[in-house]
Amino acid sequence: MTETINFPAASILGYPRIGRRRELKKAVEAYWAGKIDAATLDAAAKQVQLAGFERLTGLGLTEPAAVPGTFSYYDQVLDAATHLGAIPARFGQLLDAEGQLSIDGYFTLARGNAEQQPLEMTKWFDSNYHYLVPEIGPETNFSVTSQRIVEEFKFALANGVQTRPYLVGPVTFLLLSKASDGAPEGFSPLSKLAELLPVYAELLQNLAAAGAGWVQLDEPALVVDGEFSTDELRTALETAYTTLGATPERPQILLSTPYGSLGELLNNVAAAPVEAIQLDLFKGELPAEPAALASALQGKTLVAGVVDGHNIWRNDLAAAAAKLDVLKAAGIQLAVSTSTSTFHVPHDASEEVQLDAQLRSWLAFADQKAAEVVTLASYLADPASAESAIAEATGVIASRAQAAGVRREEVRSRTAALGAADFQREAYAARAEAQQQELQLPVLPTTTIGSFPQTGEIRSARARANKGELSSDQYRELMQDEIRRVVDLQEGLGFDVLVHGEPERNDMVQYFAENLEGFDVTVHGWVQSYGSRCTRPSILWGDVTRDAPITVEWAAFAQSLTEKPMKGMLTGPVTILAWSFVRDDQPLRETANQVALALRDEISDLERAGIKIIQVDEPALRELLPLRKAAQADYLDWSVQAFRLATSGAATGTQVHTHLCYSEFGVVIDAIDALDADVTSIEAARSKMEVVNDLENHGFGRGVGPGVYDIHSPRVPGEAEVTELLRTAVEHVPARQLWVNPDCGLKTRGYAETEESLRNLVAATREVRAQL
Ligand code: GLN
Ligand code: ZN
Repeated sequence: MTETINFPAASILGYPRIGRRRELKKAVEAYWAGKIDAATLDAAAKQVQLAGFERLTGLGLTEPAAVPGTFSYYDQVLDAATHLGAIPARFGQLLDAEGQLSIDGYFTLARGNAEQQPLEMTKWFDSNYHYLVPEIGPETNFSVTSQRIVEEFKFALANGVQTRPYLVGPVTFLLLSKASDGAPEGFSPLSKLAELLPVYAELLQNLAAAGAGWVQLDEPALVVDGEFSTDELRTALETAYTTLGATPERPQILLSTPYGSLGELLNNVAAAPVEAIQLDLFKGELPAEPAALASALQGKTLVAGVVDGHNIWRNDLAAAAAKLDVLKAAGIQLAVSTSTSTFHVPHDASEEVQLDAQLRSWLAFADQKAAEVVTLASYLADPASAESAIAEATGVIASRAQAAGVRREEVRSRTAALGAADFQREAYAARAEAQQQELQLPVLPTTTIGSFPQTGEIRSARARANKGELSSDQYRELMQDEIRRVVDLQEGLGFDVLVHGEPERNDMVQYFAENLEGFDVTVHGWVQSYGSRCTRPSILWGDVTRDAPITVEWAAFAQSLTEKPMKGMLTGPVTILAWSFVRDDQPLRETANQVALALRDEISDLERAGIKIIQVDEPALRELLPLRKAAQADYLDWSVQAFRLATSGAATGTQVHTHLCYSEFGVVIDAIDALDADVTSIEAARSKMEVVNDLENHGFGRGVGPGVYDIHSPRVPGEAEVTELLRTAVEHVPARQLWVNPDCGLKTRGYAETEESLRNLVAATREVRAQL
């Protein structure tokens, strides 16, 4: 081991890596577009890292290893894969003569190339961040194929900061991986653990040789009820850390476990032969038996994650201090950290100067969280030193409870008065009949999911309107022109149910946030969604009301252009919550019901304006599913109820659609059924229509539109390909239930490929209809 230094009293688990002004995003995209060279990209990446070091040390993370080395060009799971040699054979030879992966090879795995699809992307725990899924098979030959984290450590050190390098830990890495295509049935990546460990050990040694005192191995998979039993996880944990702990000449190890409680594994993690463990004590519970934990820890440091890394609210420092007191009283050696990496939140709340000062005072973005951690560390050292900071935080939180708009009695009395009937529509059979009378749709009706390509003209019109360069009338006219084009296009192509194309929406959640009370939006509040893609979640801070109709004018205009039914398009309550920063001062159920009531009012206004089909998108239904099974039933209950509350005011003859973006149905199919939507569209093309098996087994009895083409790439599906998928669908689901639609909205596509794809979709539908 290198020189032993204590774990820093104050630290954060990770820091945003896109840059305060999304500098990394811009540099990476410029590099992909061939506008800058690799050296310029490298310089931009270094600037982003340096700015972070400077900021965090300025905020008081001054001890060695307090600043986490969590920079990434694209994704932390991809980083692990590319350091460990988990490079799928299907990409051919991506390594250079020294067996190292270049930055181009790295981006190839992330983005694919002409021959190969990129690594699959999926959600990181219960967040809206997406990681790349490593592919591991018996053939995977682990070795150190990148020294980037070592180089980054050296770079920081040369600039006066000893960081704490970060790697996804070995157990989590394998649990997040999937079996490669060629792997035999039943192969599990976890079976490669013993082969993987020596490569981790080598990286640890390289880091120690470069001077790293601490390294962070992140094992969030240990807080999830997944495919493996607790015993299997315990065995994997023990295998991994017994080996890594015994590595000679390594840095000290922080084993971090963000995103929830370890449950039965707590004392096993505590006893792991490493020097510090981190617990999520914000979302996770305080250990029930601190004395037992203290003895399992055997003197190692417990890094108490008492500051929430995942949401933006100012920490209740008094509550956090009370947790620290309990652990301290048990004789545990403590340090303070965030519960998770702060890359889930934007950089700096103080930059949101346009926000009401009172609202701003309630917020803590990444920089404010670093300061909170420093305050709590000083509390541990000397409670009196933090007294005034704690009192201030307590005062701010109290002011939040009292502030105008946080509680609106008219909203409260409405949610309090809800009864079973408010969540229930008439029986489906009666609805189906009334709707068919109303709509007269052919078998296999064709439709799209809502958005049409968001062209450069649309974006620039919105930007000009925001700057005041276009009047609201001029903006409306431009959007109406676009809607007219989209309606004409769909009529020309022969679609049965039309959409207006959503040109007026910047984003499917922010658009509603901007038009509802109880929300605010930020200017610089970007967070990474995946790779270079960032989102700017809205802030849901108060009781939600709808002052005026939001979508009705657009929908009515679109309907006026056609005899065909026009779908009204809304974002559902669960998705609005999932993709915003949501108030933490009341149960999500209450907040979801408030949003649902606003949508319910919108739906009746749409009906009054003559709209007969209303789609309420819930692509995030699966995302918020709790990581622990014990908590899932309650979540599924409130999320389904909120959707039903939003939609069950619709008349019997109004057809309610919903749209879900993923095809992993297993755990949530009952919930999807319970939404009681008349028609559900889902992603299916990438999984070659496999979802129809689930639907068939489940006996799904209402309308369903399994997507017949993948909108995530510009590739145009051939007519024969769509025909084939439809035939598969018809074999499993009665034709009278089936709808034909793409996988998702078309906003990220261009018009050329969209038109051609949709033409093939309609032609394939006609062919299959003719044979029914
Ligand atoms: N109606 C939305 C659209 O078409 C749905 C987007 C989504 O599911 N993410 O863009
Ligand atoms: Zn979708």
